[in-house]
Amino acid sequence: MDLACYICSSSCATTVEGLDDAVDAVGFGHGICHLCSVIVCKAHGQRVPGPPAAQYMCVLCVPSFIRKGGFRPIEPGDPTGPQTEIDQLIEAISFAPEPVLTKIRTELIEFMRRQKLKETAPVGQAGRNLAADIFSEEMGVTQFLREMNEGLKI
Ligand SMILES: [Zn+2]
Ligand SMILES: [Zn+2]
Repeated sequence: MDLACYICSSSCATTVEGLDDAVDAVGFGHGICHLCSVIVCKAHGQRVPGPPAAQYMCVLCVPSFIRKGGFRPIEPGDPTGPQTEIDQLIEAISFAPEPVLTKIRTELIEFMRRQKLKETAPVGQAGRNLAADIFSEEMGVTQFLREMNEGLKI
């Protein structure tokens, strides 16, 4: 049985950017999001490393993943000093397209400067919210969810 990607098969699919442009299996159900249980294709979902175990996550749930925080250290034994939370956040969503990652990193660094905080300090909830909002906007998640809601009201 072929299962279709929830995003690709929806009427407002075109607003959502794929996580990886190079994937060839667009549209075909590849994994079930462990957070919202939709079935998505390789372009609209990604396996996120554990602990506890690697779990599949759809692009629509990435913003709440960012908001939640608690990203893993990149290299726990790294003697070059503490990792910045910005680096950890970017690493945790490294499956996102490069321009989106660059924009999130740039805006977070700007955000830290405005707060007069070091770039290596934790970005906190406000910083994570900012990153999640940028991801949603850039990836089309915001628009997708808005159109889905409007569709439901009709
Ligand atoms: Zn898809
Ligand atoms: Zn999901």
